[in-house]
Amino acid sequence: MHDLQALVNDIQREIANHSKRGKVADYIPQLAVVDPAHFGIAVTTVDGTEYVAGDADVSFSIQSVSKVFTLTLALGMVGDRLWNRVGREPSGSAFNSIVQLELENGKPRNPFINAGAIAVADVLLAGHQPKEAIGEIVRFVRFLADDDSIVIDEHVARSETETGFRNFALAQFMRSFGRLDHPAEHVLGVYFHHCALAMTCRQLSHAGLFLAAGGHNPSTGRTVVSRGRARRINALMLTCGHYDGSGDFAYRVGLPGKSGVGGGIMAVAPGKASIAVWSPGLNENGNSLLGSYALEMMAQRTGWSIFGV
Ligand code: GLN
Repeated sequence: MHDLQALVNDIQREIANHSKRGKVADYIPQLAVVDPAHFGIAVTTVDGTEYVAGDADVSFSIQSVSKVFTLTLALGMVGDRLWNRVGREPSGSAFNSIVQLELENGKPRNPFINAGAIAVADVLLAGHQPKEAIGEIVRFVRFLADDDSIVIDEHVARSETETGFRNFALAQFMRSFGRLDHPAEHVLGVYFHHCALAMTCRQLSHAGLFLAAGGHNPSTGRTVVSRGRARRINALMLTCGHYDGSGDFAYRVGLPGKSGVGGGIMAVAPGKASIAVWSPGLNENGNSLLGSYALEMMAQRTGWSIFGV
């Protein structure tokens, strides 16, 4: 077995020395104020052991990492019927792109681009008021992470509600194709709030553990999804989790992963561990620059890439 604590310490030290840290997302004003010097890493192995370094206990805005949790919830509600609402192919375009939607009749390519996650939020709203749907999501994430202290950062949610013009455009555009059942304001209320979940690397690595352990959370002893569903969610994370950077992430890291514009990435080493990293500066695809690099080092040194050592 590798000395994982020594490894996360090494990675943290190496990242601390980097001067090129990427660019913090500034289109959501509340994210623009985050210090790019932060770096956190947390690894939870399938036997429940944790290894952390750096700012692993500092909360950050998980943003699109939350799309893994809403996808899991929506699949639990409607099963494979979800794929009538959203596809499962990489988009090859930016996370907030609108161009493909017109050509494909308002059906988003996959559940991780913004349009796709908005369609998933619409599914989660069925039979609920927005507040109730948001409550369900928070309860689910707390259950996954086994941590009732997890909350939504209301400042971030408000900040994005005030400036999320592009997401309003995406939602209204989908509604024009008859692809949303609820008003755009309600759907985006759910979407902006789940993106504004504040979590630490440690909490995120707990929440992802069920994906590393065949749908079962070995720390809590609870089954979250079937083995097959965990495998498929991992497949989607590998092919679509980093938007137009998904190919590069698979090439360099070789693990299913989901990024967010808050600079977090949750990655899964199937049968081995759940890994969360956070570095707020982003690359040109909106994925954490040094977070990706940290995971690349991690995968290289552990041999955990799903493509072989
Ligand atoms: N809430 C963000 C947005 O809609 C999420 C994007 C992301 O994390 N890639 O723009």
